[in-house]
Amino acid sequence: MTRIGIIGAGFGGLAAAIELKKAGHDDIVVFEKADEVGGVWRENTYPGAACDVPSPFYSFSFEPNPRWPRRFSQQPAILDYLKQAADTYDVRRHVRFGVEVSSAAFDDTKNTWTVTLAGGESVELDVLVAAVGQLSRPSWPEIEGRETFAGPSFHSAEWDHSVDLTGKRVAVIGTGASAIQFVPEIQREVAHLDMFQRTAPYLLPRPDTEFHGGHHKLFERVPATQLAERAGWYAVMEGLSTAFLYSKPLSALIHRMSRRHMAKQTKPVPGLFEKVWPSYPVGCKRILFSSDYLPALAKPNVDVITTGIAEITPDGVRTTDGELHEADVVIYGTGFRSTEFLSPMAITGVGGQDLHEQWHEGARAYCGLTVPGFPNLLMMYGPNTNTGGGSIVFFLEVQATYVREFVDHLDVAGGPLTVKPEVDQEFDDKLQGRLANSVWSACSSWYRNANGRITTNWPGLGLEYKRRAKFDADDYAVVGR
Ligand code: NAP
Repeated sequence: MTRIGIIGAGFGGLAAAIELKKAGHDDIVVFEKADEVGGVWRENTYPGAACDVPSPFYSFSFEPNPRWPRRFSQQPAILDYLKQAADTYDVRRHVRFGVEVSSAAFDDTKNTWTVTLAGGESVELDVLVAAVGQLSRPSWPEIEGRETFAGPSFHSAEWDHSVDLTGKRVAVIGTGASAIQFVPEIQREVAHLDMFQRTAPYLLPRPDTEFHGGHHKLFERVPATQLAERAGWYAVMEGLSTAFLYSKPLSALIHRMSRRHMAKQTKPVPGLFEKVWPSYPVGCKRILFSSDYLPALAKPNVDVITTGIAEITPDGVRTTDGELHEADVVIYGTGFRSTEFLSPMAITGVGGQDLHEQWHEGARAYCGLTVPGFPNLLMMYGPNTNTGGGSIVFFLEVQATYVREFVDHLDVAGGPLTVKPEVDQEFDDKLQGRLANSVWSACSSWYRNANGRITTNWPGLGLEYKRRAKFDADDYAVVGR
């Protein structure tokens, strides 16, 4: 039986494990550095943490949950869903909790992968699936004096729940998807909040609703109703991608909708709209769905500061105009090291070639899944498989199917499979050609690496990815043959 290792027990790792198990593969080990499944949904516990993709769509198609508490479920409900899925599909017995993979090396003589764990233990495998996500490693900004701050400071993805914010002066740095969720929660309890905004996000209303007993009964008794909700959101989200990628008029419509929403919500405070209205093309950074962020900024105990940050001092944040904004606590909503795929693991392939060296200009992979010279290594949520508008879970299911078909083919192939360099090159040329003309090349964001290469996003619709990322044995060479 093929020995399969999966790194990570988040949405991606679970998707792969479940799909492989359903197909009868049982020699599976999932390496998970934490003590529970859930990935980012285990880690991100900041107040208000929720998904801005509606739950009926941000869930496995094969595991609908008629009991979502809300349309836009909060982190505890999503984590429960993932724990439940791990139980339902008997994944837990495959998971080794509390072990971190430090390196993985392809052994040319044996045609196997050797995974080395942080404690020094080695595990030999035939197939390695990295499911470590794009947004799992917090990014701390390089601001002078950051370490000198005298009070507590923490990152949104590592929320320090021991810090009581009641009555405190709090500085928040960053205005991305995470910050706009926790700011409305903490604004109510803090004495004063300084919101440091480098670039404003476009906002659209979040049409959230509580799913009460009536909804749950309906979803349970008439599953087609939940399916209809899922299909509806699928259409809306693909519509967003269509707007950013293909349709100027649709994009202009979203721009207008955002302007109306943001103007209305900032009306009570003169000058606020001008501060928070973005100046880059809509869709270039992720559009955020929120109905309570701007009302929080409009409260008297909040200041939005758009002057650049010069340094952090023991007492607060000094802006480039020389003003010191005193703070008791600093919270970093500064995102993730999204373009450092598979870091900090050392991965070596055929002939000892180093994956990170091969990726020195930016991570890339065939269909986001495989890399020439790295046989039988696959990735979930790999390079260029993020979506500007859809649900990542949709992409993960496509990838899980690919992984399963790849693994199934190994019996026929008779040796490890490595993607043909010319197939990978043609794929990447087309992909980057499209991305160069996309809206994402018009500003800086976590979609792009330091060289400006867009390494995270897929340049089309989810449906197109589903059609394109189909396993084809002709794309691969068998190692040693
Ligand atoms: P993010 O979108 O990357 O936002 C980081 C923020 O920090 C940006 O406003 C950025 O400004 C700012 N920043 C970074 N370095 C800075 C510096 N040195 N000085 C001042 N400001 C700085 O990160 P995120 O909010 O954690 O979200 C990341 C992604 O996680 C999201 O786009 C989404 O895919 C996922 N997420 C999803 C949900 C959900 O509901 N599904 C919720 C949270 C997160 P610039 O824009 O100027 O760089």
